[in-house]
Amino acid sequence: MDFSYAAVRAAATTVARHLPPTPMWSYPVLNGAVGATVLVKHENTQPVGAFKARGALNLLSSAKTGTVTYSTGNHAQSMAWASHLFGLPCTVVMPEDANPSKVAAVRAWGAEVVLAGSVLADSEAYAVELATRTGHRLVSPGDTPELLAGVGTLYEEIFTARPDVDAILVPVGSGTGAAAAAVVARELAPKCEVIGVQSASSPAAHDSWRSGDLATRPNRTRIEGLATGRGYYLPQRHMRDLADFLLVDDDRIAEAQRLLATAAHTLAEGAGAAGLAALLDQPDRFAGRTIAIVCTGGNASPRELAALQ
Ligand SMILES: *Cc1c(COP(=O)(O)O)cnc(C)c1O
Repeated sequence: MDFSYAAVRAAATTVARHLPPTPMWSYPVLNGAVGATVLVKHENTQPVGAFKARGALNLLSSAKTGTVTYSTGNHAQSMAWASHLFGLPCTVVMPEDANPSKVAAVRAWGAEVVLAGSVLADSEAYAVELATRTGHRLVSPGDTPELLAGVGTLYEEIFTARPDVDAILVPVGSGTGAAAAAVVARELAPKCEVIGVQSASSPAAHDSWRSGDLATRPNRTRIEGLATGRGYYLPQRHMRDLADFLLVDDDRIAEAQRLLATAAHTLAEGAGAAGLAALLDQPDRFAGRTIAIVCTGGNASPRELAALQ
């Protein structure tokens, strides 16, 4: 199965049955601070605090069996939440040092958490083994078309509301969001520049995009949602139309998190502030234009909360 705009349209019906559209606001203090009109799309208001709820909902709405997956956090929470909604079993393999608040949230939705491996690649290997043993479906957080289709509904909401937006800055980990944004923008807002943003400390998706090959790279970012060590095939294939792909450093992301807190009444986790970080990095490029940023999630870790002060 591949991913297309038609799949996003179909997913929109399913998603709308369970999730209201999220708000998108502009804040004068934030606009003044960055010198552009910034539209903040608030995926931090989803029931699991991140946009990935949309993908899991779309995937599991037609599922008949349980799933096994691997994640540093938000994909896990989303799969647990949607499995709970549809009464399906769910097992999530997370790295041993996963954010404890995300582990607790996954368990609270009734999913089984297995802590295995020091990095996500090891958790993945264990999940593959577990799926084979249990006969449950193995769900890749990046290469699952139903997840991209569900996530696409977020960009459908943005570009339906504001087809005039000049550019959109999309935080990238595995690339499902950026791929979906590119496909939906082509239909609804072809003049909008869709720009990916990743941490310079974990540039696998960025380097894959630049080289046209699936790259494996060191994965050293502190920013959980952006921490992937390899490019994923399906999102990369649909990201080719991105206007650009920017790298930002983790300290700039922390600065953007503080600015969202003080100027936009918003608690973002690091990944949710990456779009704003790219804007802060290149103010001249975006000056005076209308720029959408996706606050992809609000699940700040205890360390991130402490760093806001
Ligand atoms: C997963 C995640 C991302 C990255 O999304 P991809 O679709 O994996 O590129 C960004 N922000 C948050 C909050 C996330 O949970």
